[in-house]
Amino acid sequence: MSLTLDDVREKLKEWKDIEIAKTSNPVPGDGNPLSEVVFIGEAPGEQEDKQQRPFVGQAGKFLEELLLSIGLKREDVYITNVVKFRPPENRDPTPEEKAACLPFLLLELSIIRPKVIVPLGRHALLHFFAKMSISEAHGKPQKLTDELTVFPIYHPAAALHNPGLRQSLKDDFAALGAFLAARASAPRP
Ligand code: URA
Repeated sequence: MSLTLDDVREKLKEWKDIEIAKTSNPVPGDGNPLSEVVFIGEAPGEQEDKQQRPFVGQAGKFLEELLLSIGLKREDVYITNVVKFRPPENRDPTPEEKAACLPFLLLELSIIRPKVIVPLGRHALLHFFAKMSISEAHGKPQKLTDELTVFPIYHPAAALHNPGLRQSLKDDFAALGAFLAARASAPRP
């Protein structure tokens, strides 16, 4: 029998292989399991740890606003993180934490089988393109296969620290909206 997203949630609850899995709550992905689009952030923050849902704090509010700007509600898409537990004081996740959590992300992706993956920020981007910089790649779709495109965008929290990036995020979401609309109207092979 194949795994479901509920199975991944259950596995995450029991998994304590890294220190932050012992000091914070598991935050699995959330949203529409049938979505063709998956958004991948970095790691949960304080609110996400409390509510055990990704992107429910300030960055999440901005993400919801950006989604709405292209006609999407958060329930329409699937939203998850590279790291499934909160690093203390919201420090950057370590390479070990990212590597240790990767199997959970891969399981989520293998169950959902999205057509478009949107890495939000450099931590998620580096899982797909180890040498790509987010400042160069953002807003530009990268076709990985005939079936899968990666569409990197800055992390919404980056705009909270650096208001200059706000417009860039809005522009990239507009480009993502146009890309998704073109995909939806293209004839299927
Ligand atoms: N930032 C992230 O990368 N993920 C969250 O879930 C919240 C903030």
